[in-house]
Amino acid sequence: MALDLDLFREKLLLLKQMLLAQEEMSKEGRAPVTLEQDSVGRLSRIDAMQVQAMALAQQRRRESEREAIDAALRRIEEGEFGYCVTCGEEIAEARLVNLPSVTSCIECARQK
Ligand SMILES: [Zn+2]
Repeated sequence: MALDLDLFREKLLLLKQMLLAQEEMSKEGRAPVTLEQDSVGRLSRIDAMQVQAMALAQQRRRESEREAIDAALRRIEEGEFGYCVTCGEEIAEARLVNLPSVTSCIECARQK
């Protein structure tokens, strides 16, 4: 297979940077709820907690994405990139271009 690994590495690093930037922007939303009881009503506190819960869920998603990206970068270094972790076959290049951190070929992904 003749994958342009440098290109994929660049793409993965860019994705990671974007995730980190998103994280920076969302930090405010994840700050602990410290609203004072006197200044806000019960409903506003619940709203704030829901917003916080959503921010935390997004944060977890970003973390797992970042782990997937790091794992893909490791696979590039180890020469494993582009091979399905389940069956060992080559992953279609179009699939990798679409989702560089993908770890399984389309056939194995379908069977999950
Ligand atoms: Zn496979």
